[in-house]
Amino acid sequence: MLSVFCSPSRYTQGKDATKFLGQEMAALGLVGPALIVASKSADALLSGAWAQTLPDAGFVHQVHHFGGECSIAEIARVKVEACQQQARVIVGAGGGKALDTARAVAADLNLPVVSCPTVASSDAPCSALSIIYTDEGVFREMRLFRRNPDLVLVDTQVIAQSPARLLVAGMGDALSTWFEAKTCVEGSVRNMRGGASTRSALALAQLCYRTLLEDGTDALAALRTKSITAGLERLVEANTLLSGLGFESSGLAAAHAVHNGLTAVPETRAYLHGEKVAFGVLVQLILEGQPHSIMEEVLRFSASVGLPVTLAEIGLGQMTPDMLERVALRSTAKGETIHNEPFEVSPEMVADAIRAADAIGSEWLHTHGPPG
Ligand SMILES: [Zn+2]
Repeated sequence: MLSVFCSPSRYTQGKDATKFLGQEMAALGLVGPALIVASKSADALLSGAWAQTLPDAGFVHQVHHFGGECSIAEIARVKVEACQQQARVIVGAGGGKALDTARAVAADLNLPVVSCPTVASSDAPCSALSIIYTDEGVFREMRLFRRNPDLVLVDTQVIAQSPARLLVAGMGDALSTWFEAKTCVEGSVRNMRGGASTRSALALAQLCYRTLLEDGTDALAALRTKSITAGLERLVEANTLLSGLGFESSGLAAAHAVHNGLTAVPETRAYLHGEKVAFGVLVQLILEGQPHSIMEEVLRFSASVGLPVTLAEIGLGQMTPDMLERVALRSTAKGETIHNEPFEVSPEMVADAIRAADAIGSEWLHTHGPPG
């Protein structure tokens, strides 16, 4: 098996990075017209900066107001607009769904794509995949594209205005990266691009985990006061770049499969991807029989930033045996990344690990108190 590592062509991050968007795009040889797929809040925050930086760098641009769902219908609408405008580059600005839509449109039209995330809530911005939903918001499919984004531009001035819960969810998604990457590498399974992992990808995944432990709580405190600090910059990089490169080029395992399982019960719908993934990490550690010291390190971190460590914290305080069975079955469905674990995983094993994770997490909160 060949080793494959993939990444965006360019990653730019910093305070007021949006002011350099045109310049950064021009530096890559991109040319306009540019169609920007922007959520309402991204447009409100960024349109002033776009009106300066894009014409300055020679880009004509137009904004498509994102409909709210990365659905087949929305992708089709943006494609029509892109063709009418004769767009030669697509820019996504906003949360994950706006970026996923921009990426899907660019892939279909064979155009370069730029991601401008306005939150650091997941590791999706750097990846070469989109999650497609129905217009009602139900998961439909994951689409893999040939190429990662040409440019990912992260403006930490914008991230600093975002709700704390979203940054914390991004830490939950990033928390899984190292544990899932290590499992994939140890089992010599294929990464998200169909190749073996590289030492580079694994090292980035490890750095991602270390950055969370070192900077997580301080970065969260900074964001709560809308302050940009070196620690917040490092944490945003961990959530966005390190986690993104780590998961795509090393692979996913039980934690993300358990997340997918949790989505099978509607009670978890109000909870974010990264919140459910964080609980999935605990389940993975138990499934793998990892030592107590690792479990304790993860519990301490999760509780310190307010990530869920119990079922009650993801809406499942009253989980019935039937609900648990549904979660376990969905987690172990054919094709799930849980099968990247180096042993066969049955639904019963997942159900046991979920119950145990909840008990250990509850005990931890009971002993150490809820996050302050
Ligand atoms: Zn994820």
